[in-house]
Amino acid sequence: MVSIKQQKHLKKLNANQKGKNNRNYKGGYKLICIDGKYIFEHRYIMEKLMGRSLNKNEDIHHLNLNPTDNRIENLVVLTKSDHAKLHAILRRCKNRNV
Ligand SMILES: [Zn+2]
Repeated sequence: MVSIKQQKHLKKLNANQKGKNNRNYKGGYKLICIDGKYIFEHRYIMEKLMGRSLNKNEDIHHLNLNPTDNRIENLVVLTKSDHAKLHAILRRCKNRNV
């Protein structure tokens, strides 16, 4: 389940990804259908890799900031607070055109 807070976060991260919100994408992220349920592909891939479920405090970050690039080398697990901090830093850099 995606909380409202997460949804807002995803929406913000993917403001430039509009138009991709069809059945196979949500907020710019790829969805896959497992056992009749749609789940985020990047979370599924990471859960398979780690051999356990992600807990509620964990987020997946896409290193190249492309939310559809779900190669293992592009994914990293962060706590929600670290993830938010990272994006705040990335935004700052972007605003300074670095
Ligand atoms: Zn991220």
